[in-house]
Amino acid sequence: MIISEEIAKKYLSAYGLPTPSGAAASTAKEASCLAESLGGAVVVKALIPVGGRGKAGGVRLCRTPEEVEAFAGELLGQMLLGFLVERVLVEEAVSVESEIYVGVVANTKTAQIDLVLSFSGGMDVENITSQNTGAIHKMAIQPGDILPVHRVRTWLSQICSPLILDPLAFLLVNLYRAAADLDAALLEINPVALTIQGDFILLDCKLAVDDNALARQPKLNDLYESELNVQERRARELGLSYVPLDGNIGVLTSGAGLGMMTVDLLEGCGLCAADFLDTGGGISEAQVRGALALILEHPALVGVIINLYGGINRMLEAAKGIASALEMNINHHPVVVKIIGNQQEEAWALLETQPDVHVVRVVQTEAAVEKLVELVG
Ligand code: GDP
Ligand code: MN
Repeated sequence: MIISEEIAKKYLSAYGLPTPSGAAASTAKEASCLAESLGGAVVVKALIPVGGRGKAGGVRLCRTPEEVEAFAGELLGQMLLGFLVERVLVEEAVSVESEIYVGVVANTKTAQIDLVLSFSGGMDVENITSQNTGAIHKMAIQPGDILPVHRVRTWLSQICSPLILDPLAFLLVNLYRAAADLDAALLEINPVALTIQGDFILLDCKLAVDDNALARQPKLNDLYESELNVQERRARELGLSYVPLDGNIGVLTSGAGLGMMTVDLLEGCGLCAADFLDTGGGISEAQVRGALALILEHPALVGVIINLYGGINRMLEAAKGIASALEMNINHHPVVVKIIGNQQEEAWALLETQPDVHVVRVVQTEAAVEKLVELVG
């Protein structure tokens, strides 16, 4: 889960990490009022969950509330780096002397946490560090370990000026604590600005929290749920993985691998999936009914493919769920069903009585896709 810059900065300031004063706005007028209350120059940034905004024109230093209003008006409603800009962040501008890159990164290869530091921070950090690997410093930390200040000081004393050693050590220790407490897969600050006055301040923040840890992060879990749309919430309540897509063929499968294969085979025949939906194990009639109802709501739908495998899952339950979702459906699109496994005969018999359903009594998904092509192609 990616935490928005605005919220991540709030969390980090609770760890004694300085961030610029500011707030988010969803209209240009609101942005200019914020600028007015902050007083002086501000930085306006598109609030989207990716980096590279600076280079893409999504970050600008503005000197007057009028300038803020004009720039925020330009950004809001615009697509930037593939995301719709719905909010902007307005923050007091900082006079930057130099920029540092700091990352706390869960390294899945070494199963350790890497503390990453570069004194060539800022928008060009990738270019600089790819040409000069010596510009990146790394320290590996065992997950769960406390990071004592003396350890960071010893490390820093080999790579940085004694003038900034203490404040930087303090900053890194606190960032590491925040990352550990928040179960961060990645906490990246680029840049940490060193101001003309000699203080450090976090100008940006990318925080990605491990989704598997949400159960022990009630604050983040609530945030996660509050950001779900109605369909995503329904899918979550039914225990489904559901992703709406751009195509027009509904896809219901009982496994992520089966789902990916089905989507690929459709693609191979020139058809495009309207969703990716995986029921997982523990199929029930109600769950399958809810799953298919979600799929049938896709506005572009012209047909559906259902590809289920019954191991411990009872396919008769699935068939009942399919039948009752179709009974409540007003649009009549062809539905091709390939069901194999536990109680397959009972499932086939039930579904073959349904008006829009075409059961393929074979193991190969290819046959189901071919049938669908014949019906919608
Ligand atoms: P990103 O490009 O998506 O990573 O967005 P950032 O939030 O990092 O902003 C891009 C760049 O804008 C930063 O690398 C800084 O150089 C610059 N920037 C952001 N805030 C300030 C500020 O308050 N003062 C100054 N001088 N520069 C800023
Ligand atoms: Mn940045």
